[in-house]
Amino acid sequence: MSDNKETEISSLGEFGLIDHLTKDINLANSQSLKGIGDDAAVMRYSDTDVLVTTDLLLEGVHFDLTYVPLKHLGYKAAVVNFSDIYAMNGTPRQITVSLGISKRFTVEHMEALYDGIRHACAVYGVDLVGGDTTSSRQGLVISITCIGDAPADKIVYRDGAKDTDLICVSGDLGAAYMGLQLLEREKAASVGQKDFRPKFDGKEYLVERQLKPEARKDIVKALDEAGIKPTAMMDVSDGLSSELIHICTQSHTGCRIYEDRIPIDYQTAIMAEELGMNLVTAALNGGEDYELLFTVPLTDHEKISKIEGVRLIGHVTKPELGCAMITRDGAEIPLRAQGWNPLQ
Ligand code: ADP
Ligand code: MG
Repeated sequence: MSDNKETEISSLGEFGLIDHLTKDINLANSQSLKGIGDDAAVMRYSDTDVLVTTDLLLEGVHFDLTYVPLKHLGYKAAVVNFSDIYAMNGTPRQITVSLGISKRFTVEHMEALYDGIRHACAVYGVDLVGGDTTSSRQGLVISITCIGDAPADKIVYRDGAKDTDLICVSGDLGAAYMGLQLLEREKAASVGQKDFRPKFDGKEYLVERQLKPEARKDIVKALDEAGIKPTAMMDVSDGLSSELIHICTQSHTGCRIYEDRIPIDYQTAIMAEELGMNLVTAALNGGEDYELLFTVPLTDHEKISKIEGVRLIGHVTKPELGCAMITRDGAEIPLRAQGWNPLQ
């Protein structure tokens, strides 16, 4: 990763590095009174409720720098936090970024990471207001905390789904997981080869979904404009099946979803076939889609049908019915938190 022309972090020191990475940062949100540079950032929220979410990412556990560019990593690390705030029907406003950096990283590496973080902040209108920087014995550690807000009556929890509500999901599912499979496959193929060129032709969407996910700010806005407040909502980070079980458990309900309603991109389907994997299993259990899964009252059927990029995939039931998927041939398969075996 390093080459000799790069700048060692020790040449700047901790304060020099923070200064270098954050010198051009401006604050855009009116709630951000004081950002980087004092002992704490200062925010002023008057009439709204404040939302806080945090994520910890460890090299070798959550990301692999052999195929993840640092700029993309920065972008994704920020965006997945924004996604959690949108999943509460809120607006992300500020982030803090904490880093553990091992000796193999240079100033240029950290610049690339911050380019990605700054880009995500610009796209989503979020202020970078602080963080912490320290050394790590091994690998890179990134922790991002996001602060957001929402009027108290707009916040959507996971526990509000009711019997007969409609279950909706944005975008398509399984592509990020297939992107990961593809990147892992090409990484394995590259071992010991000089001038290796990974084969991503016709699968660009999968790679993009894995390396550069987006949070569904647009869907939260569209729901608001349509006058729809979901009864329950969360973002799909661990796979549809597991997230649906979370909503139903917390809401004390069951659910039925329909296999033929699950939105899947054709590149996902092609990749699943190439790998000999069950496509629906991948869509149900592959994680990191960062789409929004939500429930709305049956009376919103017409309104929700008009929103582009939202698919109705099933409905909420009484708790005794459990959580299940109806397959194309009418069989009922219980949803599991991790994977279901179509042969069982
Ligand atoms: P303290 O000693 O109070 O922890 P620091 O010297 O660590 O303060 O940080 C100085 C300022 O720089 C603070 O405003 C802090 O929030 C900010 N900061 C430190 N590390 C980062 C980082 N990785 N990204 C953004 N801001 C940072
Ligand atoms: Mg500090």
